[in-house]
Amino acid sequence: MSLDNIVIGSGIGGLTAAALLSRYGKRVLVCESHAIAGGAAHSFHRRGFEFDSGPSFYCGLGNQRPSLNPLRQVLDILGESLPTIPYDPLGHYHFPEGTFPVYSNLERYREAVAEITPQGAKELAQFEKRLLELYAGLQNIPILALRSDWQVIPILIGRYLPALLKLLPQLGTIQSSVGEVMDKTVRDPWVRRLIDLECFLLSGLKARGTIAPEVAFMLGERSRAGVEYPVGGSGAIVNALVQGLECWGGKLRLNAHVEQILVAGGQAVGVRLRQGEVIEAPIIISNATIWDTYTKLLRAEDLPASYRQQSLATPAVDSFMHLHLGIRAEGLEELTGHHVVVHDAHQDITAPGNTCMISIPSVWDAHLAPLGHHVVHAYTLEPYHGWQRDEGYQEKKKLRSQSLFQALERVIPDIRERIVLELIGTPLTHSHYLRRYQGTYGPAIAAGKGTFPNCQTPIRGLYRVGDSTMPGIGVPAVAASGILCANTLSGR
Ligand SMILES: Cc1cc2nc3c(=O)[nH]c(=O)nc-3n(C[C@H](O)[C@H](O)[C@H](O)COP(=O)(O)OP(=O)(O)OC[C@H]3O[C@@H](n4cnc5c(N)ncnc54)[C@H](O)[C@@H]3O)c2cc1C
Repeated sequence: MSLDNIVIGSGIGGLTAAALLSRYGKRVLVCESHAIAGGAAHSFHRRGFEFDSGPSFYCGLGNQRPSLNPLRQVLDILGESLPTIPYDPLGHYHFPEGTFPVYSNLERYREAVAEITPQGAKELAQFEKRLLELYAGLQNIPILALRSDWQVIPILIGRYLPALLKLLPQLGTIQSSVGEVMDKTVRDPWVRRLIDLECFLLSGLKARGTIAPEVAFMLGERSRAGVEYPVGGSGAIVNALVQGLECWGGKLRLNAHVEQILVAGGQAVGVRLRQGEVIEAPIIISNATIWDTYTKLLRAEDLPASYRQQSLATPAVDSFMHLHLGIRAEGLEELTGHHVVVHDAHQDITAPGNTCMISIPSVWDAHLAPLGHHVVHAYTLEPYHGWQRDEGYQEKKKLRSQSLFQALERVIPDIRERIVLELIGTPLTHSHYLRRYQGTYGPAIAAGKGTFPNCQTPIRGLYRVGDSTMPGIGVPAVAASGILCANTLSGR
């Protein structure tokens, strides 16, 4: 069968583009290098425990309609359901001076802040008001209607003129960083640190580097739709997308590592797999990162030199240390699922090891762990450089995972005695299993210092999706990138 599209990689961005294109009637093949689909969002099992390899924080995936989450919108078009479990508070932030519950419900959130700083809570309300005004303007333009080329302009004017006019007063905020909105509204140092932390958790950058619409969407969505976890773990999202893809005639091949994108006369014509097999199609979509696509998958001469150089100069957020644990659960009946631990208030929150993220999804879905146990994932930023599989590797792994164990002790003091299964991952593990350049979280494109590129490339027939394209990092964002690419290609 001849193909219309080959998608390289089954991350959420790749699967979204592939499934939508299949839904639009294209013949699509996804080639995934790994034995498990999903990229950063894949789940894996060990000895009865079902682990999330990366994301576990979602909102707008459940039954509430309309949903503004692009992923939910795609699943709706594909006809796929995804049972979810709502919860609130969405997490606990553990600062050196104490623990703070974070609620999706904005009033409860502000009340909790007011217990620490009454003036800060008032300022936070002003900050949120500005961002929620922006969210209210943006929510009238559904991402499903958009595409990534100039033809978006007549679509916007023809179908969404009133919404565009409503957005006019927000033009200043749309282009701002969260830092600028914060400077205008918040002086309280505690609340400023809280906002920095929330930005960092979202984009990998603090308030000054994070664009205002990203946080406007996060605040708006979590207060409107609440936070929820997919039954079966993050892998359930991947399964729903794969099912949607296959139901509409698309195909997924696992263990199919693409070694090269074939280009002839400035046009992408197919791919060559590691085993030597050549597969042809007039449109190739790469879900590999910008760095992997432009170094490993193309020859240098396939791209204009200056474009290639500029693309490869995109700064990258660090990689991660991971801890995946299976633990005994007795006596932990009050345990909640999400925690963020900041070890040292005098150190930058982005310093490796200082801010540790923890998720224990078996508190929501008990089937993720054997009876009487919990499944734990903790991670923190860690630079890629300096890591190699030499004789000191095991020792370094142990050493660098200590900040994660210490963070977990804030939540479960006797965690070390409870462990029945322990897996430590380093930046090398992360880059190996996710096939990502230096195991990075994604591009560090700071607000005001550049924008994420769109899905087009200088090579005819070659497109890109995923977190190194517009609109950026995170599951909803990469789903949006898949939508923008599929719409651009199908002329919607
Ligand atoms: C630890 C962690 C926690 C996170 N937490 C959250 C969260 O709570 N909420 C949230 O919204 N986001 C979160 N994120 C971000 C989110 O998971 C990612 O931004 C998103 O999943 C990235 O998707 P992607 O489509 O860009 O591709 P990726 O997930 O990077 O997938 C790309 C795929 O392409 C494949 N591939 C690469 N090269 C080749 C090749 N040559 N041949 C074949 N296949 C190839 C890879 O194997 C991979 O499967 C988290 C990320 C991490 C790492």
